[in-house]
Amino acid sequence: MSSTQTSDSSKLKGMLTDVTKCIGCERCVEGCVKRNKLPRDFLSYFKAKDGLSGNRFTSIVKTKNEETGKWHMVRKHCLHCLDPSCATACLVGAFAKSPDGAVEYDEGMCIGCRYCMLACPFSIPRYEYNKPLPYVRKCKMNDECRVAGGKPACVTACPTRATIFDTRENLLKIAKKRLEENPGKYVNHIYGEHEFGGTSVMYISDIPIGDVLDIPTKEQFEEMRLPQLAKKSVPALVEPWVWVTPIQFFAVSAGLSGIWLYRRKRLLAQEKQANDTSSGKEGNDGK
Ligand code: SF4
Ligand code: SF4
Ligand code: SF4
Repeated sequence: MSSTQTSDSSKLKGMLTDVTKCIGCERCVEGCVKRNKLPRDFLSYFKAKDGLSGNRFTSIVKTKNEETGKWHMVRKHCLHCLDPSCATACLVGAFAKSPDGAVEYDEGMCIGCRYCMLACPFSIPRYEYNKPLPYVRKCKMNDECRVAGGKPACVTACPTRATIFDTRENLLKIAKKRLEENPGKYVNHIYGEHEFGGTSVMYISDIPIGDVLDIPTKEQFEEMRLPQLAKKSVPALVEPWVWVTPIQFFAVSAGLSGIWLYRRKRLLAQEKQANDTSSGKEGNDGK
């Protein structure tokens, strides 16, 4: 077990998002913005495609099922890993896994090196590019977010209970029950149960959502030649190298390099396919 993991797993809190229940109303985003007093995110230049930014800790990503043509909404934010790479890579210990499950971030300690951004396998932490004194920001899931009832503001705001908050143990039971009781409705997988050593935020869905969340399938992990990461965290994978590499960031980077290369290859293939399709279309249009 790596030093960032908590010893009592029954106390870990987390969230479960059921994509089939999400109506894309974005009340969770509004709840988060209000609770965390986040400014308006009008500078779209600084916004990534997934909607997360230094001012947005959670977003709703729209994804289309190409077979049915139906759109699905996937809530995105920090997955609060059980053994977080961001915490291992941070030189000054600004990230830490709290005993109740949240991966906390101390702005006061941050030196702005952005190693956490490179180390996160899900590309979650964002930089405040628009500020003269920028920090890295991400979803907190800690006491600061909790409203009456002890739940995070984003969860309380959700009108359909698409996103719920409980102990990780209970959430796993709920997720397994829904999969068992509704055969054929869901993809038979709990996203975040095991990947990268498991996460406190998990998902169930009626369509594959690994691409949206940057959670590879077992086959994709094998293709990256990193099958261990289907169950093991990056810090646990690189632990034997750390004595050779005194700065943990380099060890984490080495562990993740296969993932970066794989994603780059996939992105280039997608771009090529899009270019081929559009030039084929232009060719047909010119006939
Ligand atoms: S999802 Fe990324 S930022 Fe969040 S805890 Fe895991 S490694 Fe850290
Ligand atoms: S847990 Fe807190 S920071 Fe994260 S999305 Fe919810 S309200 Fe925002
Ligand atoms: S509030 Fe609930 S239903 Fe609305 S977008 Fe967020 S998760 Fe989906």
